[in-house]
Amino acid sequence: MDSSTNPYRISGLLAEFVDPLVEHAYREHMQSLMVRHLRVALWVWGGLILLFAVPDLQALGWGGEFFILLGCRLVQASLLFGLAFVLGSRPQWATDGRAVTSLEILGFFLFLPIYFLRPEIASFTVTVIGLMLLAMFLFVPNRLVQTLLAALVGYVLTLACVALNGRGMDIFIGATFLLSLPVVTGFFAAQQLHIVQRRQFAMFNQAEQANRELEQEVERRKLLELELSRQATTDPLTGLPNRRQYEMLFRRERERCRRQSTAISVAMADLDSFKALNDELGHDAGDLALKHVAALFQQQLREGDVVGRFGGEEFVIVLPDTGAAEAQVVVERLRSMLESTPVLLRGQPRRITATFSVSVVRDDETDIEQTLRRVDEGLYLGKRAGRNRVMEV
Ligand code: GH3
Ligand code: MG
Ligand code: MG
Repeated sequence: MDSSTNPYRISGLLAEFVDPLVEHAYREHMQSLMVRHLRVALWVWGGLILLFAVPDLQALGWGGEFFILLGCRLVQASLLFGLAFVLGSRPQWATDGRAVTSLEILGFFLFLPIYFLRPEIASFTVTVIGLMLLAMFLFVPNRLVQTLLAALVGYVLTLACVALNGRGMDIFIGATFLLSLPVVTGFFAAQQLHIVQRRQFAMFNQAEQANRELEQEVERRKLLELELSRQATTDPLTGLPNRRQYEMLFRRERERCRRQSTAISVAMADLDSFKALNDELGHDAGDLALKHVAALFQQQLREGDVVGRFGGEEFVIVLPDTGAAEAQVVVERLRSMLESTPVLLRGQPRRITATFSVSVVRDDETDIEQTLRRVDEGLYLGKRAGRNRVMEV
């Protein structure tokens, strides 16, 4: 991907996403994890601060100096525990970083009096501050720049204390070296960590995006497949099953009726004088009339019955589990319903009739074509006999 269009570009120095929206999304994604880590860090940090009151007491006794240090420790620990507590209701403070950065800076001010009040362990104190600087980078979740800011404040403050103490240049240079090392090491280690975590986030997001696109594509193809199979099985004008479909349905129903020893009947309907209607009102009106007939037949028939378009103005009706007498009744009902339900064509109600022919499928007829040939003869006779009637063959 071109780096200028890659939304997951990471600034090497800050170890944050260049795009503020992506950075925001990353921090939201990391928020609950950061809250957990930060809370642990705050508890450990506060606990250690309190714990080291014990050696203070041993060294200083119950004197004023001890109480000054104890006061500093108590203030700092309560702020740390307070923040750990507040994170429950303000988890965004964990990713925003300002609260923890402020505590880090304040922490140096509250910690450094020990440097003056316990001069016998001054070099130990500087070493501890060096460890604190490293720990800030590695164990206290925060934004890299803010950790760097707090670390630099601590670094400068500590060196200022060392200089103020007036212990000579050697000690100052030693302290500078001792404190620079954890700041530099911590910064680069944390920087790598931040970058790796963001790369993981980017990869996770890209994989998720690809997955979503794939799912959409699968869904689109499923719909396409459904549409294709619909197109392959239905007549576009009337929406009825086409020849291929009703032939298949016939075979299935025929087989079932044979197994259950029930009769199955087939009927054909041919609209009467349809050519004349087309000639008079136009092809579009003819189409409308065909749709009307298709809808009417479908409404009238039972669930398991099949009405298909044979072609032109001819329809095929399959009546499973239906013997001759019942089929005659069903088809007669269709005929009279059609006759008595005019359709509005060009603003005029128009009565449409059809001639029907119906027959029970014979045992030797496994294909609908064989039955239809016989039924078609009935149609011919029906037309000759004057149309708009049901013929039984
Ligand atoms: P009969 O009563 O003897 O069946 O007369 P008919 O005019 O219905 O019979 P014929 O077979 O002479 O004419 C069928 C007409 O059906 C001819 C054709 O224009 C019309 N037709 C066939 N398919 C369609 C169609 O999809 N749309 C329209 N509008 N007309 C169609
Ligand atoms: Mg015809
Ligand atoms: Mg006709």
